Amino acid sequence: MTDEAEHRRLIVAGSGIAGLTAAIYAARSNNEPLVLEGPEPGGQLTLTTDVANYPGFPDGIGGPELVNNMKSQAERFGAEIDHGVIADVEPGTPHRVELRDGTIYTADALIVASGASARTLGVPGEDELMGYGVSTCATCDGAFFRDEDMVVVGGGDAACEEAAFLTKFADTVYIVHRREEFRAEDYWIDRIRELESEGRIEVLTNTELLEIRGSPEDGIEGVTLARHPDGHPTEKLDDADTERFEMAVGAVFMAIGHTPNTEYLKGTGVEMDDTGYMETVGGDGGGQTRTAVEGIFGAGDVVDHHYQQAITAGGMGCKAAIDADSYLEDLERAKDASVDAAAADDD
Ligand code: NAP
Repeated sequence: MTDEAEHRRLIVAGSGIAGLTAAIYAARSNNEPLVLEGPEPGGQLTLTTDVANYPGFPDGIGGPELVNNMKSQAERFGAEIDHGVIADVEPGTPHRVELRDGTIYTADALIVASGASARTLGVPGEDELMGYGVSTCATCDGAFFRDEDMVVVGGGDAACEEAAFLTKFADTVYIVHRREEFRAEDYWIDRIRELESEGRIEVLTNTELLEIRGSPEDGIEGVTLARHPDGHPTEKLDDADTERFEMAVGAVFMAIGHTPNTEYLKGTGVEMDDTGYMETVGGDGGGQTRTAVEGIFGAGDVVDHHYQQAITAGGMGCKAAIDADSYLEDLERAKDASVDAAAADDD
């Protein structure tokens, strides 16, 4: 262990709803949490204008406001919130936590609440035009493309919600989905059909994006798409039934899901599924947020690829803080017992 490492009782990785809820509970249990904000401070809710389904706010609340309120609440109880992105974790007693800037901490317990980041397609033009017409956040960027035609890629709730939101600004919103059936809930499908009947949305099923054309100086000129009657056209580009076509649009929004931010846990022994989501113990009893590594807990979107709601992330953050508290108490008792045993040996 290096000399320069600062020791902490509990580190919380991530400052979204899961991390901040964990921090509120942990601070109130005197576990003096240090919250490391991560690369997207405040998490995904900071990208949302209006959160209408978080209980307790009958008129809704802005995402950034909700996050800031939680931050203040955590700080009021003694949590320390600092910039910092974790690069590597070496498990042990204590765990060694190294940040990207070279800062090293040791920690008795670590709550991983580093969330998930928006996925991208990897098509030509996407990286180059990210921020210049390509976006992963309709609520953040939609207003920049007023009266333009826009594309939303995806067929889940996020794609439908973003497409519906973008109708406020767009001339027409084209939803590009790779197969016939939508993954989204019926509520969103009905809403999209309604907007389609009003001529504000057009749905392009069995269609995928091949290329985005444009430049950072002039923005997006257009996109190249492929369609196949059986869906997944990019897997059948040489098929005679695959049709390629071009469209002139001013913006492209990716809504194709998220990738969990768990890179830094590789090699720690924390179990993860094929897509990188952390495996926790789960079940109905205590310790649901424990992982295969003693003293490392998981909460929020980094674990939960199914519900992914602010309220469920908060609930898991609360559970993780309670589980970490039990763990830290056990650890302290074990330390005290070994000190007593050593003292008895000396007598
Ligand atoms: P999701 O449900 O995983 O949907 C992702 C969509 O993107 C799918 O339709 C998928 O197609 C498509 N996709 C994935 N990779 C693709 C690729 N490489 N090329 C083309 N298309 C691709 O993700 P989500 O919509 O972000 O939702 C995630 C969770 O958040 C869900 O639990 C959802 O209920 C929740 N959520 C809820 C709301 C709300 O209720 N207000 C809003 C947003 C999100 P396939 O269907 O073919 O796999």
